[in-house]
Amino acid sequence: MLEITCYQCGNKVFKKPSDIKVNGRPRDHSFCNNTCYNKWRADQHLLVKKRWLKFQREVWGTIPVYRREAGKCKAYGRQAELLAIQSYLPREGFTEIDDFSKSSNQFYVDFIATYKDRRVLVDATVKLKAWVPEKTALALSLRMPLYVIHVSLIHENLYFINEVPAGRTVSRVSAKFIRQKYTEFFGNQEGDD
Ligand SMILES: [Zn+2]
Repeated sequence: MLEITCYQCGNKVFKKPSDIKVNGRPRDHSFCNNTCYNKWRADQHLLVKKRWLKFQREVWGTIPVYRREAGKCKAYGRQAELLAIQSYLPREGFTEIDDFSKSSNQFYVDFIATYKDRRVLVDATVKLKAWVPEKTALALSLRMPLYVIHVSLIHENLYFINEVPAGRTVSRVSAKFIRQKYTEFFGNQEGDD
């Protein structure tokens, strides 16, 4: 028997070594029972959700933007497009950018550009997560890659370029990127509000 400390409640209990690692759970995250494990899972889930909302509110700026009147949303969308075309996309190696969003909203995507020697579709959004089923369908039909550039409107030079694989309906800023930026902005503190 081995003595383990429950990762959730801190109680010490004795367990058979074979019982310590269950379902691939790491050894340093051992729990006295399933109740403690489930409570830990729920807390983790809540923490991730809290961090996501804090990031969205204070770093990315989506919530303040969308809380303002609906008419302004379009203006913010255009601001993101301008940031993308004037500064972020050229910096990332996109050239010969045709701006289809400039004069019309009849197009499915904002830009067509050259990237890595190919013509590619590019769309700009202020959201962390954008619903793009029509754009991916168009990209698939044209056999062109689709990139979505997610742009923060409250922090300059904060953006994420995502190559959306064929068949996906959603483009999102990666969890890894959000974790990284969250740490840059808020440090690595465990409990935050
Ligand atoms: Zn416990």
